[in-house]
Amino acid sequence: MSDMLDIVVVGGGIHGAGVAQAAAVGGYQVLLLEQATLGAGTSSRSSKLIHGGLRYLEGGHIRLVRESLAERETLLAIAPDLVTRQAFHIPLYATSHRRPWQVAAGLALYRLLARAHGDFASVPRREWDQLDGLATGNLQAVYRYYDAQTDDLALTRAIAHSAAQFGADIRVAARFLGAERQSRGYEVRFMTGGDVTTCMTRALVNAAGPWAGQVLGRILPGPPRLALDLVQGTHIFTRGRLSCGAYYTEAPADHRPVFVMPWRDGILTGTTETLYAGDPGQAAPLPQEIAYLQEVLRAYFPHLDTTPQDAFAGLRVLVRADGAFGRRPREVTLLADAPNPRLISIIGGKLTGYRLTAARVLARLAASLPARTPQADTRFLPLTPALPGPA
Ligand SMILES: Cc1cc2nc3c(=O)[nH]c(=O)nc-3n(C[C@H](O)[C@H](O)[C@H](O)COP(=O)(O)OP(=O)(O)OC[C@H]3O[C@@H](n4cnc5c(N)ncnc54)[C@H](O)[C@@H]3O)c2cc1C
Repeated sequence: MSDMLDIVVVGGGIHGAGVAQAAAVGGYQVLLLEQATLGAGTSSRSSKLIHGGLRYLEGGHIRLVRESLAERETLLAIAPDLVTRQAFHIPLYATSHRRPWQVAAGLALYRLLARAHGDFASVPRREWDQLDGLATGNLQAVYRYYDAQTDDLALTRAIAHSAAQFGADIRVAARFLGAERQSRGYEVRFMTGGDVTTCMTRALVNAAGPWAGQVLGRILPGPPRLALDLVQGTHIFTRGRLSCGAYYTEAPADHRPVFVMPWRDGILTGTTETLYAGDPGQAAPLPQEIAYLQEVLRAYFPHLDTTPQDAFAGLRVLVRADGAFGRRPREVTLLADAPNPRLISIIGGKLTGYRLTAARVLARLAASLPARTPQADTRFLPLTPALPGPA
């Protein structure tokens, strides 16, 4: 390891992998520390969508949706083995919260923001009984549009693999213990297999997802903090087959959006939103969350077996604010230690936007880093599935 690294990244989720890739491609010397395995945190427990976020339009988050739609197209182009276009159906019943004209207006705006790739259509009534056994009583309209699906863990590993190919030092089972500010950067301590190592870095990126607050607490002198909420989202995996694509439903209990999606040889249904307090490593599906998701599945696809074959919970990091979780902005927050920062924490964000977020982190750090020669541009760099390995 060099005497002075350019960047140390804490966390091997999609954001850490993305920053390590952007840094390595930018010619910087980068070390990534992941305490467990790559993607072990939220980045293997998401809804696995690469999407613009249709529902964020209701909150007026136009820029987020436009950027995410552009990133979706970039990822479809550079990672065709990992990100695939998927049809989504929005069934609207007499009891649905949103009226068909509202959904059509939202999809028209989504199409506008997606430019060339935003087709949507109303599914004709005569085709409704071909929609995977969707309940048709009181059904008033079904809209079909397109977004994309991924394997979040495989995508994270592929990005880390790409980073390593450009020279990033990726360490798993390597826990960040703490960092102390020095005149030229940070002195970082980390532990691997019982050994504590110290290294110097010009810049430090906290990409620890739900652990970001804990990581900030181990940095001296105390950097700026934000009040954060961890919000748990659970998915259930059940038997069955959806051959027409995914469904964007409204939970009967509270009208929250819930996706019912084809996933591997079964069906993935999620998600929930439950305030979480405790060790991020211990997040697990709650019985009431599972029952809630089973109720959604039963309401829309009465013929399906709702017995969970598996269930998993991920944690969103949301900046504390008033109002329902679903209405809080989903934009990523970059928390810096100074106007020309040497420490940046990535708070929240989306799988979909990881590449753009990484590019923004690098741009913010540029003034604290020496000039290096970029080796490639991540907008055009192909991502291929990494072979399974120790990470
Ligand atoms: C339920 C749910 C559904 C979602 N669905 C979608 C979706 O469909 N599409 C989308 O675009 N986004 C989605 N998101 C958002 C997306 O999943 C997250 O924004 C993203 O995965 C966060 O990645 P991350 O790298 O910031 O965090 P994480 O993936 O949690 O990675 C943080 C890593 O840091 C490591 N770490 C922590 N502390 C230390 C330490 N001391 N030393 C070393 N390593 C450490 C952890 O082990 C972990 O691997 C969803 C989020 C949730 C919760």
